[in-house]
Amino acid sequence: MFQKVLIANRGEIAVRITKTLQEMGIRVVCIYSDADEKSLHVEYADEAYPLCGNSPKETYLNIEKIIDIARGTGVDGIHPGYGFLSENSKFAQACLDANITFIGPSPSVIKSMGDKILAKKAMSEVNVPVIPGWSGDITNIEELKNAASKIGYPVLIKARAGGGGKGMRVVQSSSELEYAIESASREANNAFGDNRVFLEKYIVNPRHIEFQIFGDNHGNVIHLFERECSIQRRHQKIIEESPSTALTPELRKKMGEAAVRAGKAIGYVNAGTVEFILDKDKNFYFLEVNTRLQVEHPVTESIIHGDLVKAQILVAMGKKLTLIQSDIEQDGHAIECRIYAEDPKNNFLPSTGVLEVYREPNGPGIRVDSGVKEGSLVSVHYDPMLAKLITYSKSRNAAIEKMLWALNHYQILGVTTNVSFLYDVINHSAFRSGDLDTHFLEKFDVHDSVKVRESKDLACAISALLVNNHNGVVKDKEIVNGKDAACTVSNPWSQMGSWRMI
Ligand code: ADP
Ligand code: ADP
Ligand code: MG
Repeated sequence: MFQKVLIANRGEIAVRITKTLQEMGIRVVCIYSDADEKSLHVEYADEAYPLCGNSPKETYLNIEKIIDIARGTGVDGIHPGYGFLSENSKFAQACLDANITFIGPSPSVIKSMGDKILAKKAMSEVNVPVIPGWSGDITNIEELKNAASKIGYPVLIKARAGGGGKGMRVVQSSSELEYAIESASREANNAFGDNRVFLEKYIVNPRHIEFQIFGDNHGNVIHLFERECSIQRRHQKIIEESPSTALTPELRKKMGEAAVRAGKAIGYVNAGTVEFILDKDKNFYFLEVNTRLQVEHPVTESIIHGDLVKAQILVAMGKKLTLIQSDIEQDGHAIECRIYAEDPKNNFLPSTGVLEVYREPNGPGIRVDSGVKEGSLVSVHYDPMLAKLITYSKSRNAAIEKMLWALNHYQILGVTTNVSFLYDVINHSAFRSGDLDTHFLEKFDVHDSVKVRESKDLACAISALLVNNHNGVVKDKEIVNGKDAACTVSNPWSQMGSWRMI
């Protein structure tokens, strides 16, 4: 059993991992940048060490500093979380070299799956369908243009080392190709220090469906069903759910088997995600393998009633997976919304400041994985995601109603957030009917209604602040949500009556 684990991350995911480690009796070591000194993940940890500085390069991406702290404090494992160094094979190797267990797959698997071309090649060898594409010499313009017309427009330029939706360009015709290649290469170079790009057939209006996989050191690989992540902005997921409304039991089985085949082919160990794209005719194609715990893992935890971080720790200690595929059931429906400090009315510009009021909704089937609390400072230095709100219920409709209730009772003042925007997406008739694709937000121009509500929102915010400042906490009010049990919250917002204009 691990005695002590260092979490090489910050924010909500550091807090999330801390909770499971402490529950397992493992001591938690955290690291923090100057800006994060008073943050929630530091408060939760058993030991905290400064990284000094604020830029990711000086802090959460600084392999040398992190390994030094890990050595000095005598940890036996390192959990990388997601983002930062989680998919950096050099970091995984540096952990092993320091005789510390990296809680994730092997450096060689991370490296090969981090290269989208190598990953596609490995998948097509085991009959996992891949999107037609081309990865030749892009400086040979003649050849490039030929390849693109052979694939057929629109084509998508993608970064070979890509991630987080960066380095992608949709190209509609050959006249745009050269310029798009140059700008995608430049973006890829800035983001990943690798300017290599390749071409792929652009699938029009697809759905993003991914499968959670899990492997152990004993050759077992299982899948824990799908997550649909089609609600995206700039190729970034903002709402995820499981089960997907697009899958029949047959298709689910076929895709699940492909995901497990993919995992087995590369000797996958620990938690990973096989991402697929599903076209209008329900053909699925491999996108990539994310070799880490995913942002949206709570969706899977909800429907399988499990703890993926706990499973990660046990597998990293060499334990065998205790579940076999036929034991695992998809029970109920879960939806996750990513709560961002950003302004939907102003091109989603990140918003910074102190959280003057911060109250999370709670109640049966409502989970908030958060990295902040009232008084926290949201700085310019890192990703503006504050928290993830997850609702779970027996049916999709009930999970939707619960999400609307929860969003409506999420109180955040001090920074602008996307909470109202998320409400409008979830409440949209197309979302309710399960008619999703990756262009949902552009198609329905959801934020028009946000604009309409602007002045009303402001009035409510000011009233809530006044209630907080002058009356202390407002008396509890009982709210009954559909057929589910009653939730009790302290809620100045509920004093406003039904003010929401939908
Ligand atoms: P995920 O489902 O984990 O978000 P992605 O491939 O979309 O998978 O994201 C890759 C990584 O980029 C994630 O680990 C996440 O931490 C990070 N990321 C997501 N959104 C942003 C953002 N807006 N800015 C910077 N990094 C981000
Ligand atoms: P990243 O590593 O940045 O997450 P992915 O390959 O996983 O890159 O793609 C991110 C998103 O971009 C997908 O979820 C999907 O919305 C879109 N996308 C990627 N490839 C294609 C494609 N060939 N056709 C259409 N959309 C695509
Ligand atoms: Mg991806």
